[in-house]
Amino acid sequence: MQSQISRELFDEIILPVYSPAQFIPVRGFGSRVWDQNDQEYIDFAGGIAVNALGHCHPKLIKTLKEQSEKLWHVSNVFTNEPALMLAQKLIEHTFADRVFFANSGAEANEAAFKLARYYTTKKFHPYKTKIISFYQSFHGRTFFTVSVGGQAKYSDGFGPKPADIVHIPFNNLEAVKAVMDDHTCAVVLEPVQGEGGLTSATPEFLKGVRSLCDEYNALLIFDEVQCGMGRTGSLYTYQQYNIIPDILTSAKALGGGFPISAMLTTNEISEVMHAGVHGTTYGGNPLACAVGCEAFDIINSPEVLQGVEKRRAIFIGMLEEINEKFKVFREYRGKGLLLGAELQPTFYNRAHDFLTAATEFKVMILNAGPNVLRFTPSLIITEEEIKEGMTRFAKAVEKVVNA
Ligand code: PLP
Repeated sequence: MQSQISRELFDEIILPVYSPAQFIPVRGFGSRVWDQNDQEYIDFAGGIAVNALGHCHPKLIKTLKEQSEKLWHVSNVFTNEPALMLAQKLIEHTFADRVFFANSGAEANEAAFKLARYYTTKKFHPYKTKIISFYQSFHGRTFFTVSVGGQAKYSDGFGPKPADIVHIPFNNLEAVKAVMDDHTCAVVLEPVQGEGGLTSATPEFLKGVRSLCDEYNALLIFDEVQCGMGRTGSLYTYQQYNIIPDILTSAKALGGGFPISAMLTTNEISEVMHAGVHGTTYGGNPLACAVGCEAFDIINSPEVLQGVEKRRAIFIGMLEEINEKFKVFREYRGKGLLLGAELQPTFYNRAHDFLTAATEFKVMILNAGPNVLRFTPSLIITEEEIKEGMTRFAKAVEKVVNA
């Protein structure tokens, strides 16, 4: 039976800040999604790198059901077992000693930037507030995070911006040296820039930034909201570079589709905080944390982490086949299953045409800016699903090329 809810309704009643595809997904399983008309799609988008275990993973469903019959919410006036369990897991497997839970990537970053400023102004001097950030970076949509982010189009138009934030080119150590001084509070970066086009930090750059931060008593903040939680083949991407941040933010895949985020830091830095300095009603919600614990255990396993590179290789192999025929891609970018295909200059500014065509041929993909197609599928997508999706995607490419 046709649902009463139509896509047109979106245009009538939702704040017009999104332009979703023309179909409405109603259910999903693994890396397949079905719409209102029971049409089946292969999902290479994974809710923008969120559904790391695909849709409706049986173990996540079981955990969510069980927790939903025990305790939904108590606020932070009380603590709860799932939150403490998830915090323990995060601490055990990272550099961190302390965790702050929130609900979205932006909120985790907001907490990170506030903590950094609180720490450096208390510990060193009141003018140690400068935040160094990078062009093309993305850290969320609250006013502080959008101002730290390196794409002015997202922060323009909302009145005076938070002060003392500078933006410089990514992967350029000389640029960092030029702006780093005793007033610097923090350097903030994504080890792999997600929204900005899937640019990976070079190892020399991260090493150089780390030592500049040490020299100037500035904090190094890694935003691993998109590239963390197994997406690039290790639990967190910093572990591949062997460069330890002072603060790290995590979200998206952390809840496998349930909204949750976390900010991780050390005992030394967290010592400046005390009750009442920062907070959120829902952060550490038992439902989110219970699902987060289950997702964490599955993602942080050798099978899943080691499977990431194998799947990337299958993706790239099939993209290369498409490219031999249609000559649309210039290079493959990103790490693991945070995979980008940069378009040839003749197709610049046409990423959206590829997305629209992909939808027509029943495969869900993403872009990262106007020139890069982005694939952020489930980390446990099957070979068969990749092949099926890529066969459909090849038809979409053919359509765009021959249009
Ligand atoms: N940081 C990065 C690197 C992101 O990719 C995103 C979202 O795409 C965010 C922060 C913001 O996360 P959220 O949309 O959950 O607030």
